[in-house]
Amino acid sequence: MRVAALVLAAGRGVRAGGEVPKQFQMLAGRPVLAHALARLAAHPAIAEVRCVIGPGDAAAHEAAAAGLGLPPPILGGAARQDSARAGLEALAKDPPDAVLVHDAARALVPPEVVDRVLAALAAGADGAVPALPVADTLKRGSAGLVEATVDRKNLFRAQTPQGFCFAALLAAHRAARHEATDDAALVEAAGGRVVLVEGDPMLEKITVPGDLTRLARLHFPTELRTGTGFDVHRFAAGRKLILCGVEIPHPQGLAGHSDADVGIHALCDAIYGALAEGDIGAHFPPSEARWRDADSALFLAHAACRIGARGGRLVNADVTLICEAPKIRPHAEAMRARLAGLLGVEVGRVGVKATTTEQLGFTGRREGIAAQAAVSLALPAGG
Ligand code: MG
Repeated sequence: MRVAALVLAAGRGVRAGGEVPKQFQMLAGRPVLAHALARLAAHPAIAEVRCVIGPGDAAAHEAAAAGLGLPPPILGGAARQDSARAGLEALAKDPPDAVLVHDAARALVPPEVVDRVLAALAAGADGAVPALPVADTLKRGSAGLVEATVDRKNLFRAQTPQGFCFAALLAAHRAARHEATDDAALVEAAGGRVVLVEGDPMLEKITVPGDLTRLARLHFPTELRTGTGFDVHRFAAGRKLILCGVEIPHPQGLAGHSDADVGIHALCDAIYGALAEGDIGAHFPPSEARWRDADSALFLAHAACRIGARGGRLVNADVTLICEAPKIRPHAEAMRARLAGLLGVEVGRVGVKATTTEQLGFTGRREGIAAQAAVSLALPAGG
């Protein structure tokens, strides 16, 4: 039985948050689509994996499919059904015996599910759907009012990859006169025999913000990294005082090539340190004129991007400002909120506190402000 797999990645869904469709967002350091493609391509029973993409997705597809040696992608349509049809018509030039149709937003395909689907087809089914029983009590309602409790016995949640006798699915698509939310519905409507096989919670569709983080936490081992940073800037007249991204009323600001935000600089160095990616001076050399008076928020946004690019997340950050004046505590909450916003994390993951040095040393003599920072990052293990 020659088996081809079609991965549908033409959807524009951005309900999962972010500016790019969910299949191109990052999960544990790789695009969601890359996970689905790699898992299907690695299955020994699948001879060919083809991806159906939207217009303008060629570069994103190329990145996701890098190294897999897949044939060129197929251009899909506006609706899921149009994309599946386009994929099937492309395969029809050299028709396989069976086809698996898979949603790219179900990134993690367990090989056992593919085995179960293919076994059902080998046993003579026209189609096979991985599914899980409904565990929650189901209510029918409208306008916030329960109208009925629906018997959940015999109800299942359908997943993908769904498998079909290729000829049966192609005929069902060509004959379709209504829109269906999955391929099995078309084969059922055409009178085909579609069987249920056991699905897997790993196949949960990525739909809402937080799904990606949850999947990464559940299924990818992480290691904790710690980084520390330290910075000092001297006081200077005629400059604004910016600390942890917040402007503080004070007779003096800090001298520096950028806005001299000593708190953010220490925090950036802590992040770069945890990533083992050098320091802030390596990324934003003071020798470059374009960083003159730069808003240090840019630097922190860059450091946060590097965490994302490595497939990691910030567990927590802790910044200590060391000075006799100004008083930091009245501004600490605003600083925490600003830093958390730049890092893209909950404010509860960011601490800002201050200490004096009992009038000892350069901070005690009010010559400048020092800052130290520590961060913990969770990174994919081995990353
Ligand atoms: Mg600095």
